[in-house]
Amino acid sequence: MTTFASPPRNAGPEPLPPAPAVEAFNVSKGYGLADTRVTALADVSVSFEAGHFTAIMGPSGSGKSTLMHCLAGLDTADSGRIVLGGTEITQLNDRELTSLRRERIGFVFQAYNLVPTLTAEQNIKLPLALAGTTADSEWFSDVVGTLGLKDRLTHRPHELSGGQQQRVAVARALLTRPDVVFGDEPTGNLDSKSGGEVLALLRRSSKELGQSIIMVTHDPVAASYADRVVLMNDGGLVGELLDPTAESVLSALGKLGA
Ligand code: ADP
Repeated sequence: MTTFASPPRNAGPEPLPPAPAVEAFNVSKGYGLADTRVTALADVSVSFEAGHFTAIMGPSGSGKSTLMHCLAGLDTADSGRIVLGGTEITQLNDRELTSLRRERIGFVFQAYNLVPTLTAEQNIKLPLALAGTTADSEWFSDVVGTLGLKDRLTHRPHELSGGQQQRVAVARALLTRPDVVFGDEPTGNLDSKSGGEVLALLRRSSKELGQSIIMVTHDPVAASYADRVVLMNDGGLVGELLDPTAESVLSALGKLGA
């Protein structure tokens, strides 16, 4: 009788951790020349995990917007590398960066930036229409359902509340299944109830739809919806909080003198 050795437990290589959504390696950036030179980012290295919701916080002028703009390919770093979804974006030319932003990044700004003459559905589908593709109808239903927009699709922006308009902007950002959604004070124009709804939806988008989200905010309550807060000061990273609460964020910012 032939006997076979039982296969070793845990056969095969350990599963690799998921690749980060975006990573910065030793990124520096300054503005102006000589005497008036300002260092906005000083040798920043940071990694943002895929499927996670991260907030970037810090005092005014600490480099949050500059970091977000460099990570999103809206601005170029002076030195260092940025890798988004496996692509080194610091190597791309302007044309390649434009198509990367269109195809692989979603944006949610403070101003909703919806086209006033288009319905909610047309606004949500606009980036795909511009790229000459159509929406996967199942994904469209998932996104619109998750964001509670099913009965608002035929409305034009002026027929929607601020919170609903921002939900349309979030749906537009999610529909292309981008590697990362970047939010720049996405609830800055909303009252606290609508802002809370939009933040809860961003959180659900990461938990239920696996979306990676990076948001710049001044608001400790907004940051408390994130999985992680990255703290900046004077153009550098100075700490992070996991599972933040408004209180833990306030206390960390207080220590920075924000
Ligand atoms: P934050 O978003 O944290 O407020 P920023 O990234 O906007 O910080 O700015 C970081 C630093 O870079 C600040 O000192 C700011 O004044 C400077 N800065 C940002 N953008 C420019 C610009 N376009 N020209 C000159 N200086 C700038």
